Amino acid sequence: MCLQEDKGSTVIIQLEEKIQQDQLAHIEGQVNALGYKPTEVRTQQGHYLVAIGKKPFDIRHIGHLDGVADVHRVSDAYKLVSKKWKVGYSSIDLGDGVVISPNELALMAGPCSIEGEDQIRSTIQHLKEQGVRIMRGGVFKPRTSPYSFRGLGIDALVLWHKIARENGIKIITEVLAVEDIEPMYEYIDIYQVGARNSQNFRLLHELGKVDKPVLVKRGMSGTIEDLLQSAEYIFSSGNERLMLCERGIRTYESAYRNTFDVNAIPLLKEKSHLPVIADPSHGIGIRKFVEQIAMASIVAGCDGLIFEVHETPEEAFSDGQQTLNYSESSRFVQRARDLFGFRMDHGM
Ligand code: PEP
Ligand code: MN
Repeated sequence: MCLQEDKGSTVIIQLEEKIQQDQLAHIEGQVNALGYKPTEVRTQQGHYLVAIGKKPFDIRHIGHLDGVADVHRVSDAYKLVSKKWKVGYSSIDLGDGVVISPNELALMAGPCSIEGEDQIRSTIQHLKEQGVRIMRGGVFKPRTSPYSFRGLGIDALVLWHKIARENGIKIITEVLAVEDIEPMYEYIDIYQVGARNSQNFRLLHELGKVDKPVLVKRGMSGTIEDLLQSAEYIFSSGNERLMLCERGIRTYESAYRNTFDVNAIPLLKEKSHLPVIADPSHGIGIRKFVEQIAMASIVAGCDGLIFEVHETPEEAFSDGQQTLNYSESSRFVQRARDLFGFRMDHGM
């Protein structure tokens, strides 16, 4: 929609799990009669009607109907990802004791690009020594120049998955295109939507149909509301297991790669129930400052960090300038955990 839409008013109706078809039809009829347009949303976890209209009405008219579990009014442009709908924080269980939740600092680390077996094994060894359970890495790389390294593709992912599984490591990797979702499915634990695809609405819609978690990065010039609407796309097409990622935005400032928006972190935590992950590597793009940006993110309230690490960053196929070496990464992990512990102990 190009024109400014009148956002009107929204009512979210959570339906009972065992709702009958005639009960649903009756609720929809009542909603229509109030001048509201209901959209049915069925996710892997829940069943909702998102009703959008103009005239306010007393939600108790809907709340007592058979088949309704809960009903709330949500004034935000985004709906089901809003804190106005779900008060508590969402957690994501990846299995094998790996959980993304507000009670632990989730750490996801690895190279910008997967480069081959030796690099995979070496990175996993390093992560295991640090107790980091989730490895990042790109096999499909969105590069500004078509002549830059664009990733080793699905074969590298299959190999990476085999080695990761042998070592109890989970995989997060970027999905660039709708047609890659299915071939990647078996080999990944979290799909990453990159900044350049943050508003690829077909991709977001299709990721809603998959029962694996998705981390959505903020777009290159995306607003906070854009990011939340991108998450809403995935949620409303069926997948509630989502994370939001602040990775910096493009501004007039060219002294660093991106302008990392630390402000986004407390705001996202206030506006949404979804976990918020910070990417200090892309956020500043300068290796020696990555740790400081990570620390600022922890103080600001993030639930996790995703960062780039390589045995020899100067030889990395991509993003070496912002990639930590192993000793920097070990220090980073230690300090991040210490600071997160301090934040928890002090109720910050
Ligand atoms: C990446 O994670 O390597 C990446 C390309 O990130 P972004 O989409 O944030 O630029
Ligand atoms: Mn990168």
